[in-house]
Amino acid sequence: MTTSMIRMGMQVDAWKQDLGDFYRARIVEMDDSLIFIHYEGFPPDQADWIHLSDIRRPLANNNISKPNRQHSSINALTASTKRRRKESLQQIDDPNQHQQRQWPHLQDEKGDGDDQGGGKYGPKGRESPLSWKDYATFYYTQEGTKARHHTGLVQDRRMALHSCPCHSKEFAHPERPDRLSSILQQLHNERILRYVKHLHGREATPSELSKAHTIQHIHNYTPPEQEGNKEIMKVTSIAALLNPTPPPKTLRGIGGGVVTTETTTATTQDGYLLPSHRNRLLPNDENITTTSTTTSATTPMNVKLTYPPDLVCQMACGELGIAVDTTFHPSHSSVSAKVAAGSLITLVDAIVQGQLHNGFALVRPPGHHAEDDAAMGFCFFNNVAVAALSTLDKYPTQIKKILIIDWDIHHGNGTQKIFYDHPNVLYISIHRWDHGEFYPHTGAPDECGVGDGVGRNVNIALSDDDSQSRPMGDPEFVAAFYHIIVPIARQFNPDMIFVSAGFDAAAGHPENLGGYIVTPRGFSLMTKLVMDLAQELCDGKLVLTLEGGYALQPLAVSAAASVAQLLRPTSSSNNDDDYRHTLNSVKPNQGCVTSLAKCIQIQQSHWQFDADLLSPSCRFHLPLHWHASEAILTRPKRDKRPIKVPMVEGY
Ligand SMILES: [Zn+2]
Ligand SMILES: [Zn+2]
Repeated sequence: MTTSMIRMGMQVDAWKQDLGDFYRARIVEMDDSLIFIHYEGFPPDQADWIHLSDIRRPLANNNISKPNRQHSSINALTASTKRRRKESLQQIDDPNQHQQRQWPHLQDEKGDGDDQGGGKYGPKGRESPLSWKDYATFYYTQEGTKARHHTGLVQDRRMALHSCPCHSKEFAHPERPDRLSSILQQLHNERILRYVKHLHGREATPSELSKAHTIQHIHNYTPPEQEGNKEIMKVTSIAALLNPTPPPKTLRGIGGGVVTTETTTATTQDGYLLPSHRNRLLPNDENITTTSTTTSATTPMNVKLTYPPDLVCQMACGELGIAVDTTFHPSHSSVSAKVAAGSLITLVDAIVQGQLHNGFALVRPPGHHAEDDAAMGFCFFNNVAVAALSTLDKYPTQIKKILIIDWDIHHGNGTQKIFYDHPNVLYISIHRWDHGEFYPHTGAPDECGVGDGVGRNVNIALSDDDSQSRPMGDPEFVAAFYHIIVPIARQFNPDMIFVSAGFDAAAGHPENLGGYIVTPRGFSLMTKLVMDLAQELCDGKLVLTLEGGYALQPLAVSAAASVAQLLRPTSSSNNDDDYRHTLNSVKPNQGCVTSLAKCIQIQQSHWQFDADLLSPSCRFHLPLHWHASEAILTRPKRDKRPIKVPMVEGY
């Protein structure tokens, strides 16, 4: 008897690594070695993959203390805990051990366990047993089984660790852990979480990373295990955490901003960092509680490491970063970045191997600005590039050609650079360009690839010369898909489609980070267009991975709209009816018309386009019946009073 006594939705007491105690929890999912636990009364981003040995049946009293054994949550990050986890995993993998393993702490559990009182709950308290019973019922229905073979969602709490040591809650660091929690909360509120197959992430291996990055780059962002006992740490090992040769453009931040550096040196002549400053760089905050107060970075970091030169920037908050905008937490960022890339690989594997139809990788830090040899724009490893190249290597007969569509508002300079001469990876980016004025200033329409990769790089570079016109939004993005992306994709005929799904084109982003007005419906439509493409060309194989998106509310609802669309079964007959009455306008603005015409004018030497599109009078309209009907347009405006969001319990 091993995992057979586990029932989904059942209540257990589960070890919560960051709080160091058992809490009432519900079992959501399990795989070969780990169990996915939702802690009752905690937000859904606290859900975690833990070992079977870390759960037990609910005790009736509150005298639950940590038992005298080792706990090995997936989130444990110290070297010793990593070792423990490895040993623990080995135990599980060992069939003999497996057979001997009994779970006395669960033996009395009947299946739909319910609280006997006395357990510990999160801040929102106990959740509705009825809701969880409903989850359990759904899980074992045919519908539930079908849902878990359709869309995967990969999430892993280690990606929340990457944050600035200053723990600023301000907008000073737009790429922050709250991005993931806000999306998960939205998926929870919309009751989407039960319809996905939950997958846990893993760290990408150095060998996987090396498919897209130089060894030097991997070394820069993969620190050696830190040894806690040493009084003095050699500065070069700190230096190794940070990119020694950032290209000049990284000095300009993704949202603007100027680099400031202080000249005070905190190193001794032989290159050792003074211990007092070492403490600032290595705060002792191994736990990932969001309320951590272990660092109080109120004084500015007047330190410039003297070797190598131009190593780091001082950010506005006073901490060091690899650029004016990109934080680097010496203890955590490397793990988060490796888990982001590895999580996407895990999801892609499940899709290619046929366990899933499509999926969404809820990852950070993002990846599309990371070049083969440089971190920038919040990105360290290029998640999509690493996963795409691993996939091509791993499944040479199944996956020969990959299409990457990048709808983040920023150009994916890293992805473009990595695949610029690659004949079998087509990169199509739609982005705000403003004739090179918008970050990262690359992505001109005439950047088409080199060597074998000529024609395999398509930049739909949007510029709006009329500041009075409506900003780019749904009709502009959908028109780019309809008139350019779809026809080119059909000619390329990929074996799988990756989407660099940034949501910073969503309405609600400030001008420096976005400035466009794409709605959740727009993202849903783009997802639908890509799904139909995938269905038509590559048996539905599609993966979306999170890139940008910084205003939390628009980010959350837009990402949830995309996930909701992924869940819908795709009809094999490409049904145009699905697009009926979906847009408030089917006429893209003038800036978009000019930008699309420019793109087609350049790309026509590589791809075929309908003759109408080549005409100077083409307005790139969308089908008229995609226009929302009168009824939708004239519907009374929603009451402006804030609506109380219903408390959603369970999954
Ligand atoms: Zn900071
Ligand atoms: Zn972006």
